[in-house]
Amino acid sequence: MIFLVAEHKDNKLKPITSELLVFAQRVSRDFNQPITALVLGSGAAALGAELAGRKIDRVVTAEHEQLAEYNPDAYVEILKGIIEKEKPFLVLVGHTTQGMDFAPRLAVALRMPLIAGCVEYEKQGERLVLTRQIFNAKMNMKTALHGDPPYLATASPGAFPADEVESGGNAATVSLPVTLNGTPRRKLVERVEAPKGTADLSSAPIIVSGGRGLKEKQNFNLIFELAEAMGGSVGASRPVVDAEWLPREYQVGSSGQTVSPRLYFAIGISGAIQHLVGMQTARCIVAINKDAEAPIFKVAHYGIVDDLFKVVPALTKIFKDLKRA
Ligand SMILES: Cc1cc2nc3c(=O)[nH]c(=O)nc-3n(C[C@H](O)[C@H](O)[C@H](O)COP(=O)(O)OP(=O)(O)OC[C@H]3O[C@@H](n4cnc5c(N)ncnc54)[C@H](O)[C@@H]3O)c2cc1C
Repeated sequence: MIFLVAEHKDNKLKPITSELLVFAQRVSRDFNQPITALVLGSGAAALGAELAGRKIDRVVTAEHEQLAEYNPDAYVEILKGIIEKEKPFLVLVGHTTQGMDFAPRLAVALRMPLIAGCVEYEKQGERLVLTRQIFNAKMNMKTALHGDPPYLATASPGAFPADEVESGGNAATVSLPVTLNGTPRRKLVERVEAPKGTADLSSAPIIVSGGRGLKEKQNFNLIFELAEAMGGSVGASRPVVDAEWLPREYQVGSSGQTVSPRLYFAIGISGAIQHLVGMQTARCIVAINKDAEAPIFKVAHYGIVDDLFKVVPALTKIFKDLKRA
């Protein structure tokens, strides 16, 4: 059995849940293991019904008043109980803020290792081998899993394509009776939303990113205008953020967000490894750079070697005209 822990907010499944489903469906095929999605929280039943339509075998929902908001103590207690009881082959959690909060605690509670930030896996004989990125994503490390399952892993956002999740299942839905031992030691005091206009890049289908090639802050308007004309979100390389042209939430890369949009524009971005690891799984990459030798062209599907100050306004005009047509 493969368990995946669904992530949700405001009664909506987060995109990482679909990515975990894709990861689970692939492992399921290779290792002939059924899949169970676990949904913890209030409103779990409705989310469970949504998940039951995916190609999985079972949905387990757990509702409790202490789960009205995400709570790591309650998560660990419930998950530990079901994992110890059912001894699944693999437990998958998103390598998100939430997943990184409870998965290590769960690993400690279960006294088992956690393979964090997985981006790929392979089957070596009957053994599962997980690939994760290390040293700020400069290197990949393969971890072969020894000993008896369960194995616990988190998957990096953007590593598995959410739109490849297979539907058409008719999963059994089970409601797990929940009793929690005592009051959780942590509780949510306040939720502080990111500033308006900041998209969650990890789920954006189109991202237009700008880099140091823009030269100065005010020129970044070119990126915003193109993004708006295309209906996309704005991203940036790290120097843009370090120079305070944009806040940290816009940064794509090893120390920023990992993204996997359908379309990624890299404009005036050289393509340093720390940037590439954050966006190279994009379905289509378009690079605009005046230097034909820039490393970004090694990952780009389409490249324009020219001055961005000429190309970007021309592209924006084309997209605006297309919208009007
Ligand atoms: C620990 C660590 C973590 C890091 N994390 C990240 C991260 O998360 N994200 C990230 O992006 N970087 C990260 N970096 C920095 C990374 O190494 C690079 O320095 C950075 O990505 C470079 O940003 P850039 O491509 O915008 O700038 P540059 O490398 O300076 O590239 C600018 C590009 O613009 C082109 N250009 C200039 N003028 C024009 C023009 N008029 N028209 C067209 N093209 C033009 C140039 O040819 C050049 O290729 C990290 C570094 C370290 C050490």
